[in-house]
Amino acid sequence: MARILISGITGQDGSYLTEALLRAGDEVHGLVRQSSLLTRSRLDTAPACAAARAEGRLHLHYADLSDSSSLQAVVRTVRPEVVYHLAGQSHVKISFELPEYTADSTGLGTLRLLEAVRQQAPACRFFLAATSEIFGEPSESPQSETTPMAPVNPYAAAKVYALNLVRIYRRAYGLFACSGILFNHESPRRGENYVTRKIARAAARISRGLEKELRLGTLSSRRDWGYAKDVVEGMRAIVAAQEPSDYVLATGETHSVEDFCREAFAVAGLDYREYVVTDPHFVRPVDITETRGDASRAHRELGWRPKTSFSELVKLMVDSEVAALDGRETDG
Ligand code: NAP
Repeated sequence: MARILISGITGQDGSYLTEALLRAGDEVHGLVRQSSLLTRSRLDTAPACAAARAEGRLHLHYADLSDSSSLQAVVRTVRPEVVYHLAGQSHVKISFELPEYTADSTGLGTLRLLEAVRQQAPACRFFLAATSEIFGEPSESPQSETTPMAPVNPYAAAKVYALNLVRIYRRAYGLFACSGILFNHESPRRGENYVTRKIARAAARISRGLEKELRLGTLSSRRDWGYAKDVVEGMRAIVAAQEPSDYVLATGETHSVEDFCREAFAVAGLDYREYVVTDPHFVRPVDITETRGDASRAHRELGWRPKTSFSELVKLMVDSEVAALDGRETDG
Protein backbone atom coordinates (compact mmCIF):
# COMPACT_ATOMS: atom_id res chain seq x y z
CA MET A 1 0.00 0.00 0.00
CA ALA A 2 1.48 3.35 -1.07
CA ARG A 3 0.57 6.85 0.13
CA ILE A 4 -0.31 8.93 -2.92
CA LEU A 5 -1.05 12.64 -3.25
CA ILE A 6 -2.97 13.89 -6.30
CA SER A 7 -3.35 17.50 -7.37
CA GLY A 8 -6.39 17.81 -9.64
CA ILE A 9 -8.14 14.88 -7.94
CA THR A 10 -11.55 16.32 -8.81
CA GLY A 11 -10.79 16.45 -12.55
CA GLN A 12 -11.34 13.87 -15.27
CA ASP A 13 -7.95 12.17 -14.90
CA GLY A 14 -7.72 12.65 -11.14
CA SER A 15 -10.99 10.84 -10.55
CA TYR A 16 -10.06 7.85 -12.76
CA LEU A 17 -6.60 7.71 -11.21
CA THR A 18 -8.09 7.75 -7.71
CA GLU A 19 -10.37 4.82 -8.52
CA ALA A 20 -7.46 2.83 -10.02
CA LEU A 21 -5.20 3.50 -7.02
CA LEU A 22 -7.91 2.64 -4.50
CA ARG A 23 -8.55 -0.62 -6.37
CA ALA A 24 -4.82 -1.36 -6.06
CA GLY A 25 -5.07 -0.86 -2.29
CA ASP A 26 -3.28 2.51 -2.04
CA GLU A 27 -4.09 5.34 0.36
CA VAL A 28 -5.06 8.40 -1.67
CA HIS A 29 -4.84 12.05 -0.62
CA GLY A 30 -6.18 14.78 -2.89
CA LEU A 31 -5.70 18.54 -3.05
CA VAL A 32 -8.97 20.43 -3.38
CA ARG A 33 -9.46 24.16 -3.59
CA GLN A 34 -11.95 26.30 -1.78
CA SER A 35 -15.22 26.71 -3.65
CA SER A 36 -18.73 27.72 -2.68
CA LEU A 37 -20.02 24.27 -3.63
CA LEU A 38 -18.97 21.12 -1.81
CA THR A 39 -20.20 18.92 -4.65
CA ARG A 40 -17.33 17.14 -6.37
CA SER A 41 -19.37 15.31 -8.92
CA ARG A 42 -16.68 13.09 -10.45
CA LEU A 43 -15.59 11.79 -7.03
CA ASP A 44 -19.00 11.81 -5.37
CA THR A 45 -20.57 9.51 -7.97
CA ALA A 46 -17.80 6.89 -7.86
CA PRO A 47 -18.88 4.15 -5.39
CA ALA A 48 -15.23 3.16 -4.72
CA CYS A 49 -14.52 6.70 -3.49
CA ALA A 50 -17.41 6.84 -1.05
CA ALA A 51 -16.39 3.47 0.42
CA ALA A 52 -12.72 4.48 0.65
CA ARG A 53 -13.57 7.70 2.47
CA ALA A 54 -15.54 5.73 5.01
CA GLU A 55 -12.58 3.33 5.45
CA GLY A 56 -10.11 6.20 5.83
CA ARG A 57 -8.24 5.44 2.59
CA LEU A 58 -9.27 8.63 0.74
CA HIS A 59 -8.59 12.06 2.23
CA LEU A 60 -9.13 15.54 0.79
CA HIS A 61 -6.98 18.52 1.83
CA TYR A 62 -7.56 22.18 1.04
CA ALA A 63 -4.72 23.75 -0.95
CA ASP A 64 -4.28 25.96 -3.98
CA LEU A 65 -1.60 26.04 -6.63
CA SER A 66 -1.22 29.79 -6.05
CA ASP A 67 -0.47 29.29 -2.34
CA SER A 68 2.98 27.82 -1.61
CA SER A 69 2.38 27.55 2.11
CA SER A 70 -0.71 25.40 1.60
CA LEU A 71 1.22 23.05 -0.72
CA GLN A 72 4.15 22.83 1.69
CA ALA A 73 1.79 22.06 4.57
CA VAL A 74 -0.05 19.27 2.75
CA VAL A 75 3.15 17.59 1.52
CA ARG A 76 4.65 17.87 5.04
CA THR A 77 1.52 16.35 6.62
CA VAL A 78 0.84 13.59 4.11
CA ARG A 79 4.49 12.61 3.42
CA PRO A 80 3.49 11.04 0.09
CA GLU A 81 5.51 8.38 -1.70
CA VAL A 82 4.14 9.58 -5.04
CA VAL A 83 2.70 12.93 -6.15
CA TYR A 84 0.65 13.01 -9.34
CA HIS A 85 0.46 16.65 -10.40
CA LEU A 86 -2.61 16.95 -12.61
CA ALA A 87 -4.05 20.31 -11.51
CA GLY A 88 -4.05 23.57 -13.41
CA GLN A 89 -5.93 25.65 -15.96
CA SER A 90 -5.77 23.43 -19.02
CA HIS A 91 -8.29 24.77 -21.55
CA VAL A 92 -6.50 26.11 -24.64
CA LYS A 93 -9.05 28.74 -25.68
CA ILE A 94 -9.56 29.94 -22.10
CA SER A 95 -5.77 30.31 -21.77
CA PHE A 96 -5.99 33.19 -24.27
CA GLU A 97 -8.64 34.82 -22.08
CA LEU A 98 -6.82 34.11 -18.78
CA PRO A 99 -3.13 34.05 -19.78
CA GLU A 100 -1.75 35.24 -16.46
CA TYR A 101 -3.88 32.85 -14.39
CA THR A 102 -2.89 30.01 -16.72
CA ALA A 103 0.82 30.83 -16.33
CA ASP A 104 0.40 31.06 -12.56
CA SER A 105 -1.58 27.86 -11.96
CA THR A 106 -0.12 25.63 -14.66
CA GLY A 107 3.44 27.01 -14.74
CA LEU A 108 4.30 28.47 -11.33
CA GLY A 109 1.94 26.03 -9.61
CA THR A 110 4.23 23.24 -10.78
CA LEU A 111 7.27 25.08 -9.40
CA ARG A 112 5.54 25.52 -6.02
CA LEU A 113 4.59 21.85 -5.78
CA LEU A 114 8.03 20.66 -6.90
CA GLU A 115 9.60 22.88 -4.24
CA ALA A 116 7.25 21.44 -1.62
CA VAL A 117 8.34 17.94 -2.61
CA ARG A 118 12.03 18.87 -2.71
CA GLN A 119 11.87 20.44 0.75
CA GLN A 120 9.41 18.15 2.53
CA ALA A 121 9.57 14.73 0.84
CA PRO A 122 12.61 14.48 -1.44
CA ALA A 123 12.37 10.68 -1.80
CA CYS A 124 8.87 11.05 -3.26
CA ARG A 125 8.21 10.30 -6.94
CA PHE A 126 6.73 13.29 -8.78
CA PHE A 127 4.64 12.95 -11.96
CA LEU A 128 3.67 15.90 -14.19
CA ALA A 129 0.81 15.74 -16.69
CA ALA A 130 2.43 17.50 -19.65
CA THR A 131 0.72 17.87 -23.01
CA SER A 132 1.13 17.42 -26.76
CA GLU A 133 0.29 21.13 -27.01
CA ILE A 134 3.98 21.80 -26.23
CA PHE A 135 4.80 20.83 -29.85
CA GLY A 136 2.61 23.61 -31.29
CA GLU A 137 2.25 23.22 -35.07
CA PRO A 138 4.53 20.16 -35.06
CA SER A 139 7.68 20.09 -37.13
CA GLU A 140 7.33 16.33 -37.66
CA SER A 141 4.67 13.65 -37.54
CA PRO A 142 4.16 11.63 -35.46
CA GLN A 143 5.47 13.55 -32.43
CA SER A 144 7.76 11.79 -29.98
CA GLU A 145 9.80 12.67 -26.89
CA THR A 146 12.45 14.25 -29.17
CA THR A 147 10.13 16.50 -31.21
CA PRO A 148 11.09 20.17 -30.61
CA MET A 149 8.82 22.19 -28.33
CA ALA A 150 7.22 25.21 -30.06
CA PRO A 151 4.07 26.24 -28.13
CA VAL A 152 1.45 28.45 -29.80
CA ASN A 153 -0.88 29.24 -26.88
CA PRO A 154 -0.45 30.41 -23.26
CA TYR A 155 -1.46 27.01 -21.85
CA ALA A 156 1.21 25.23 -23.88
CA ALA A 157 3.82 27.83 -22.93
CA ALA A 158 3.04 27.24 -19.25
CA LYS A 159 3.35 23.46 -19.71
CA VAL A 160 6.71 23.88 -21.49
CA TYR A 161 7.90 25.76 -18.40
CA ALA A 162 6.50 23.03 -16.14
CA LEU A 163 8.10 20.23 -18.16
CA ASN A 164 11.45 22.02 -18.18
CA LEU A 165 11.20 22.36 -14.39
CA VAL A 166 10.64 18.62 -14.03
CA ARG A 167 13.78 18.00 -16.09
CA ILE A 168 15.76 20.56 -14.09
CA TYR A 169 14.68 19.16 -10.71
CA ARG A 170 15.50 15.65 -11.89
CA ARG A 171 18.99 16.71 -12.94
CA ALA A 172 19.85 19.32 -10.32
CA TYR A 173 18.39 17.64 -7.21
CA GLY A 174 18.18 13.98 -8.25
CA LEU A 175 14.40 13.95 -7.66
CA PHE A 176 12.44 11.10 -9.21
CA ALA A 177 10.57 13.64 -11.35
CA CYS A 178 8.91 12.30 -14.48
CA SER A 179 6.22 13.31 -16.90
CA GLY A 180 3.71 12.03 -19.39
CA ILE A 181 3.46 14.03 -22.61
CA LEU A 182 -0.24 13.38 -22.92
CA PHE A 183 -2.14 13.63 -26.17
CA ASN A 184 -5.84 14.50 -25.96
CA HIS A 185 -7.78 12.02 -23.92
CA GLU A 186 -11.50 12.02 -23.38
CA SER A 187 -14.24 10.26 -21.47
CA PRO A 188 -17.75 10.83 -20.18
CA ARG A 189 -16.05 12.80 -17.37
CA ARG A 190 -14.41 15.29 -19.75
CA GLY A 191 -15.14 18.94 -18.89
CA GLU A 192 -18.34 20.15 -20.53
CA ASN A 193 -16.54 22.96 -22.40
CA TYR A 194 -14.25 20.59 -24.35
CA VAL A 195 -15.20 19.83 -27.91
CA THR A 196 -15.62 16.05 -27.64
CA ARG A 197 -17.92 16.30 -24.63
CA LYS A 198 -19.90 19.07 -26.34
CA ILE A 199 -20.37 16.86 -29.39
CA ALA A 200 -21.36 13.75 -27.40
CA ARG A 201 -23.78 15.74 -25.28
CA ALA A 202 -25.35 17.53 -28.23
CA ALA A 203 -25.79 14.29 -30.20
CA ALA A 204 -27.66 12.74 -27.26
CA ARG A 205 -29.78 15.82 -26.57
CA ILE A 206 -30.66 16.44 -30.22
CA SER A 207 -31.68 12.78 -30.57
CA ARG A 208 -34.15 13.37 -27.71
CA GLY A 209 -35.47 16.61 -29.22
CA LEU A 210 -33.96 18.69 -26.38
CA GLU A 211 -31.73 20.77 -28.69
CA LYS A 212 -31.78 21.65 -32.36
CA GLU A 213 -28.18 22.32 -33.41
CA LEU A 214 -24.54 22.25 -32.31
CA ARG A 215 -22.27 25.25 -32.93
CA LEU A 216 -18.54 24.51 -33.27
CA GLY A 217 -15.32 26.19 -34.45
CA THR A 218 -12.95 24.53 -36.92
CA LEU A 219 -14.15 21.07 -37.99
CA SER A 220 -10.98 20.16 -39.86
CA SER A 221 -8.63 20.17 -36.82
CA ARG A 222 -7.24 16.69 -36.28
CA ARG A 223 -6.30 15.23 -32.92
CA ASP A 224 -4.87 12.04 -31.48
CA TRP A 225 -7.76 11.20 -29.16
CA GLY A 226 -7.45 8.45 -26.56
CA TYR A 227 -9.50 7.26 -23.59
CA ALA A 228 -8.66 8.83 -20.23
CA LYS A 229 -8.74 5.47 -18.39
CA ASP A 230 -6.03 4.12 -20.72
CA VAL A 231 -3.91 7.25 -20.22
CA VAL A 232 -4.18 6.99 -16.43
CA GLU A 233 -2.73 3.46 -16.66
CA GLY A 234 0.16 4.98 -18.63
CA MET A 235 0.76 7.54 -15.85
CA ARG A 236 1.04 4.72 -13.30
CA ALA A 237 3.49 2.86 -15.54
CA ILE A 238 5.69 5.97 -15.90
CA VAL A 239 5.79 6.41 -12.12
CA ALA A 240 6.63 2.71 -11.61
CA ALA A 241 9.56 2.78 -14.08
CA GLN A 242 13.12 2.05 -12.90
CA GLU A 243 14.36 5.50 -13.89
CA PRO A 244 12.52 8.83 -14.04
CA SER A 245 11.89 10.02 -17.59
CA ASP A 246 9.34 11.67 -19.89
CA TYR A 247 7.11 9.54 -22.11
CA VAL A 248 4.61 10.30 -24.86
CA LEU A 249 1.22 8.66 -24.20
CA ALA A 250 -0.86 8.61 -27.39
CA THR A 251 -2.82 6.31 -29.69
CA GLY A 252 -0.87 7.05 -32.88
CA GLU A 253 -4.14 7.67 -34.74
CA THR A 254 -5.55 11.01 -35.76
CA HIS A 255 -9.17 12.01 -36.43
CA SER A 256 -10.84 15.32 -37.28
CA VAL A 257 -13.49 17.11 -35.24
CA GLU A 258 -15.77 16.33 -38.18
CA ASP A 259 -14.96 12.59 -37.82
CA PHE A 260 -15.92 12.84 -34.15
CA CYS A 261 -19.22 14.52 -35.08
CA ARG A 262 -19.97 11.92 -37.76
CA GLU A 263 -19.41 8.98 -35.38
CA ALA A 264 -21.13 10.55 -32.38
CA PHE A 265 -24.26 11.56 -34.24
CA ALA A 266 -24.37 8.13 -35.93
CA VAL A 267 -24.34 6.47 -32.48
CA ALA A 268 -27.41 8.60 -31.68
CA GLY A 269 -29.02 7.59 -35.00
CA LEU A 270 -28.50 11.01 -36.66
CA ASP A 271 -26.65 12.55 -39.61
CA TYR A 272 -24.36 15.27 -38.19
CA ARG A 273 -24.59 17.37 -41.40
CA GLU A 274 -28.16 18.28 -40.50
CA TYR A 275 -27.26 19.67 -37.06
CA VAL A 276 -23.64 20.90 -36.86
CA VAL A 277 -23.08 24.60 -37.63
CA THR A 278 -19.66 26.27 -37.74
CA ASP A 279 -19.43 29.47 -35.68
CA PRO A 280 -16.42 31.88 -35.74
CA HIS A 281 -16.98 32.56 -32.01
CA PHE A 282 -15.47 29.15 -31.23
CA VAL A 283 -12.42 29.50 -33.49
CA ARG A 284 -9.16 29.86 -31.51
CA PRO A 285 -6.79 32.79 -32.20
CA VAL A 286 -4.17 30.22 -33.25
CA ASP A 287 -4.99 26.56 -33.73
CA ILE A 288 -2.95 23.45 -34.37
CA THR A 289 -3.90 21.59 -37.54
CA GLU A 290 -3.03 18.06 -36.45
CA THR A 291 -1.50 16.08 -33.61
CA ARG A 292 -0.40 12.46 -33.78
CA GLY A 293 1.73 10.86 -31.11
CA ASP A 294 4.38 8.18 -31.26
CA ALA A 295 4.13 6.23 -27.99
CA SER A 296 6.50 3.48 -29.09
CA ARG A 297 8.97 4.29 -26.29
CA ALA A 298 6.25 3.85 -23.63
CA HIS A 299 5.28 0.59 -25.28
CA ARG A 300 8.86 -0.68 -25.54
CA GLU A 301 10.07 0.32 -22.06
CA LEU A 302 6.87 0.25 -19.99
CA GLY A 303 4.67 -2.20 -21.87
CA TRP A 304 1.96 0.48 -22.12
CA ARG A 305 -0.44 0.55 -25.02
CA PRO A 306 -3.95 2.08 -25.29
CA LYS A 307 -6.75 -0.48 -25.28
CA THR A 308 -9.76 1.56 -26.43
CA SER A 309 -10.36 2.43 -30.10
CA PHE A 310 -11.60 5.79 -31.37
CA SER A 311 -15.03 4.32 -32.24
CA GLU A 312 -15.33 2.66 -28.82
CA LEU A 313 -14.45 5.95 -27.13
CA VAL A 314 -17.04 7.95 -29.09
CA LYS A 315 -19.70 5.33 -28.42
CA LEU A 316 -19.10 5.17 -24.69
CA MET A 317 -19.26 8.97 -24.46
CA VAL A 318 -22.55 9.23 -26.36
CA ASP A 319 -24.04 6.22 -24.55
CA SER A 320 -23.16 7.83 -21.23
CA GLU A 321 -24.93 11.09 -22.24
CA VAL A 322 -28.01 9.14 -23.30
CA ALA A 323 -27.96 7.16 -20.03
CA ALA A 324 -27.75 10.42 -18.05
CA LEU A 325 -30.82 11.76 -19.89
CA ASP A 326 -32.62 8.54 -18.96
CA GLY A 327 -31.54 8.89 -15.32
CA ARG A 328 -29.39 5.75 -15.52
CA GLU A 329 -25.94 5.49 -13.88
CA THR A 330 -22.87 4.45 -15.89
CA ASP A 331 -19.38 3.90 -14.54
CA GLY A 332 -18.04 6.44 -17.06
P1 NAP B 1 -9.58 18.77 -15.67
O1 NAP B 1 -10.67 17.77 -15.76
O2 NAP B 1 -9.79 20.14 -16.21
O3 NAP B 1 -9.13 18.89 -14.12
C1 NAP B 1 -8.29 19.92 -13.69
C2 NAP B 1 -8.09 19.77 -12.19
O4 NAP B 1 -7.21 20.81 -11.75
C3 NAP B 1 -9.38 19.91 -11.39
O5 NAP B 1 -9.33 19.00 -10.33
C4 NAP B 1 -9.29 21.35 -10.90
O6 NAP B 1 -10.01 21.56 -9.70
C5 NAP B 1 -7.80 21.46 -10.62
N1 NAP B 1 -7.31 22.86 -10.54
C6 NAP B 1 -7.37 23.78 -11.52
N2 NAP B 1 -6.81 24.93 -11.09
C7 NAP B 1 -6.40 24.72 -9.80
C8 NAP B 1 -5.78 25.51 -8.80
N3 NAP B 1 -5.45 26.80 -9.02
N4 NAP B 1 -5.49 24.97 -7.59
C9 NAP B 1 -5.83 23.69 -7.33
N5 NAP B 1 -6.44 22.87 -8.24
C10 NAP B 1 -6.73 23.39 -9.45
O7 NAP B 1 -8.25 18.21 -16.39
P2 NAP B 1 -7.91 16.72 -16.90
O8 NAP B 1 -8.50 16.54 -18.25
O9 NAP B 1 -8.21 15.76 -15.82
O10 NAP B 1 -6.35 16.85 -17.11
C11 NAP B 1 -5.45 16.55 -16.05
C12 NAP B 1 -4.09 17.12 -16.40
O11 NAP B 1 -3.63 16.55 -17.63
C13 NAP B 1 -4.07 18.64 -16.60
O12 NAP B 1 -2.89 19.14 -16.04
C14 NAP B 1 -4.02 18.81 -18.10
O13 NAP B 1 -3.34 19.99 -18.47
C15 NAP B 1 -3.25 17.57 -18.52
N6 NAP B 1 -3.58 17.14 -19.87
C16 NAP B 1 -4.84 16.74 -20.16
C17 NAP B 1 -5.14 16.35 -21.45
C18 NAP B 1 -6.53 15.90 -21.81
O14 NAP B 1 -6.78 15.67 -23.00
N7 NAP B 1 -7.43 15.71 -20.85
C19 NAP B 1 -4.15 16.33 -22.44
C20 NAP B 1 -2.87 16.73 -22.09
C21 NAP B 1 -2.58 17.11 -20.80
P3 NAP B 1 -11.57 22.01 -9.70
O15 NAP B 1 -12.36 20.71 -9.77
O16 NAP B 1 -11.69 22.71 -8.40
O17 NAP B 1 -11.81 22.88 -10.89
